[in-house]
Amino acid sequence: MKKVRLAHLYPKLLNIYGDGGNILALKRRCEWLGIEIQIDEINIGDSVSEHDIYFIGGGQDLQQIEVSKELQRHKEFFQKERDRMAVFLGICGGYQLMGHYYQPHQGEKLAGISLLDAYTVAGNKRFIGNVTATTEFVEPHTLVGFENHSGLTYLEGDTEPLGRVMVGNGNNGKDKTEGARYKNVFGTYLHGSFLPKNPHFADYMIELATGSKPEPLSDDIEKMAHESLVGKAY
Ligand code: GLN
Repeated sequence: MKKVRLAHLYPKLLNIYGDGGNILALKRRCEWLGIEIQIDEINIGDSVSEHDIYFIGGGQDLQQIEVSKELQRHKEFFQKERDRMAVFLGICGGYQLMGHYYQPHQGEKLAGISLLDAYTVAGNKRFIGNVTATTEFVEPHTLVGFENHSGLTYLEGDTEPLGRVMVGNGNNGKDKTEGARYKNVFGTYLHGSFLPKNPHFADYMIELATGSKPEPLSDDIEKMAHESLVGKAY
């Protein structure tokens, strides 16, 4: 496949801490790889159609309320997309809404779309800081980023962690898990943006979306940047 259709879900509401940088990373790496990329923004009220990759960023509880309601309109569609192995990446607040629900400190429980067998409840402490996690899904086996959330996410059933926390808190600060994966649906608490800090994961998403492993790019600077953050707490 030499064209990737990328849907950026609700960027006007869920795009905190520079999460839009994930779209730029996928765009540039596809261009460098000679893969045409079509990027569609899906906003409140828009219809949805098949794409190869879906991205949803993070946001504050208030914005999550509006997106939670809108996502329910398309719950079945997104579950069918998951089951045909489309690639999803959700960051923090967007990740939380890919589970069954997010219960904030105040107010109603926010319904998710159950792409992941996971749920989130607001904790009493805000987790803020650098994170390093180890993962089996990509080489190098490290993922780095920045977390800023009070939500505590717990994984169930066949949903597995994206990685194991070496530095930081990850999903809930207790079970040492970070993020989640089920089929080709990925969630993570790592802002930063995530993909520019972990270009090997961006290439993995492109591989899953196109069905073929991309030619390695000359990533010396990106690799140095990634390695400079591994294990870094402050
Ligand atoms: N509002 C959610 C929380 O605090 C998500 C925050 C975010 O996306 N950074 O857990």
